[in-house]
This record gives sequence, structure tokens and C-alpha cells, in this order.
Amino acid sequence: MPRRLTGFTPSGDLHLGNHIGAIAPIISGQAAADTVVFISDLHALTLEHDPAQVRRRTLEFATVLLAAGADPDACLFLVQSHVPEHTELHYLLECATGFGEAQRMIQFKEKSRRQQHVRLSLLTYPVLMAADILLYDTAEVPVGEDQRQHVELARDVAQRFNARYGQTFTLPQAVHPPVAARLMDLAAPDTKMSKSAASPAGTLRLLDEPDVLRRKVMRAVTDAGTDVTYDPGHRPGVSNLLTILASCTGGSPEQLAARFTRYSELKEAVADAVVTTLAPVRERYLELDPDHVRLVLRTGAERARDLAGPKVRQVKEAIGLLPPV
Ligand code: ATP
Ligand code: MG
Repeated sequence: MPRRLTGFTPSGDLHLGNHIGAIAPIISGQAAADTVVFISDLHALTLEHDPAQVRRRTLEFATVLLAAGADPDACLFLVQSHVPEHTELHYLLECATGFGEAQRMIQFKEKSRRQQHVRLSLLTYPVLMAADILLYDTAEVPVGEDQRQHVELARDVAQRFNARYGQTFTLPQAVHPPVAARLMDLAAPDTKMSKSAASPAGTLRLLDEPDVLRRKVMRAVTDAGTDVTYDPGHRPGVSNLLTILASCTGGSPEQLAARFTRYSELKEAVADAVVTTLAPVRERYLELDPDHVRLVLRTGAERARDLAGPKVRQVKEAIGLLPPV
């Protein structure tokens, strides 16, 4: 069974796109695949952040994932910073990564351009991501296009390490998430729905109350004309609503388009479908006891360390460190 790994960075609020694109596929696959799910809190420190918010969101993300159906008995479920082997391996992998290799990462170029003070960790973050992946001998990493280059870096570093110091790491590969739909921002349908969106108006947050979700859908921008047709190139607003509907109810956006003659009918149907999808997650989220979640995370970290500890010892030995007695 190939191992799969997905991380969630607590740097903004989880939204319907994360649910459809990442959370739901994990949950439907967790019984059949060997799955690692983790909250990548260390990655949230690479940009300006509010410490209290990162801490709060780390617990919130873990709780949301459990509420959505992540089963900590079926998968490895942990917070990255609770397993110190992630940072230990990070340093060891830095010793097998080129400076130019890190500088070439498109995300680094884009994100560093927008900052006045660029943290060194923003440059080295793909190496930490390589450590996250290689620590557990991950074979498959479901990611969107923006993360593909980082998975390739992890693969290159693993290959180089194996060639230089002996077979140590499984070579990972990026795989397309099983659900291909990419949800766009309701207020700006030419940009992706995103945790880091400037305004919350177009983002259907996983923990939004049902009437907030409804209001956001009803205010979604539509396109000139009145027909309900699926044509993302020319009619991004309406097409996005159809994609959202299809993601929540099944079926294809093209087929669904034929059912509606007016925007208002489509919006009502989308609002209902979104609320039906997200309300149960929010309800379970509110029921979960934070102390129970913390206990689940403690057990997850212990189980993770059982795998990660021996791996790091193997890497240290291969690279030339004297084991302590
Ligand atoms: P950020 O703006 O910080 O990059 P994000 O919303 O893009 O946040 P990520 O943490 O980058 O979220 O991605 C987590 C997962 O959610 C990834 O697997 C990604 O493919 C998926 N995902 C993110 N946004 C969408 C979207 N709009 N539609 C479908 N899947 C998405
Ligand atoms: Mg992203």
C-alpha cells in the first residue's frame, strides 16, 4: 500500500476548496491507503504571523479534520512541531540540497517579492517539506500545481542522498488529487478560493455559519447575460457556481447547467448544497472537546515518532554522524 501524505498549514481559515480538493479525498481514501495527515504549523512561521493565531488555528484545523471524518486510528494524524524529527531531518537534508536549487523555487520567488523582510525559512521551507515527505517514506503526495515543484525537489534530494550515501529514502511523486475541481473565489472568480484571500466575501469558510454561507453564495458575482451555461473561459462566475454545485452534489457542471434558467435558481441550489455539505462538519466541530483533540494529537505524535525516530537514526548514520552510546 503506497503511503500518501497531506499537510495543512494553519495560515488562514479552511474553506470549501480545501474540503473538496484535499480533506474529502483523504477521508474517502483513508481506509484503503496508508495515509499521513498533519498540520504543518512550522510552515506557518515562514511568513509574518500572529503567534496566538497559529496556535489557535493548529487546534482548530485538527478539530475540523476530525469533524470532517479523519480517523486517527486509520491514518497517522499529527502536528508537525510535535514530532521533532521533522526539523532534525530538515537540517540533514539541507546538507544534501543546493543553495541554487532552493532559490529556483517559483513560490519562493513569488512570495519573497511581496515581502520587505524575507525570512531565511521561506527559502528553506521546501527542504522542510522534503523532510516531512521523506521522513515517512511517502510514495505519493497529492498536491495542486503550485506545490508540484516542491515535491520534485524532495524527489531530487532523496535521489541524490541515496546515490551519495546509500539507499535511504523512498522516492516520492506528486499525484493529482482525486477530485480535479478547483473552486474559485465567489467575489473574484478569476482567482482561486484561497486561505490567504484578502477579503472573506468570496471564500466559503468551512466554519462559516449556514446563513453566512448562504449570503456569500447569493452575493456571488455572476456574468453579463442571463443564461446558465458552463463556460469557464467566458463566464467564470456562473461556471464556478456550477462547479461548486457539482462538487457538493455529484454530477457534471455541464449537465447541471441544463436544470436552471435563472441565476437566482442556481444560487438557491448552490446555497442549499453548500450548507448541506458543510453544516454537519461545523456541528461536529462544535461538539468535539478540545482536550479530546489534544489527546488524539499526543497519540498521533507518539505513533509518528515510532516511525520517524529510526528513520532519522538511519539518515544520521548514513551521512557520517557518530551514534551516541
Ligand atoms: P494558501 O492561500 O495559503 O496557499 P490554500 O487555500 O491554497 O491556501 P493550501 O494549504 O495551499 O490552501 O492547500 C491545501 C489543499 O487544498 C491542497 O491540496 C490544495 O490543492 C487544496 N485547495 C486549495 N484551494 C483549493 C481550491 N480553491 N479548490 C480546490 N482545492 C483547493
Ligand atoms: Mg495554496
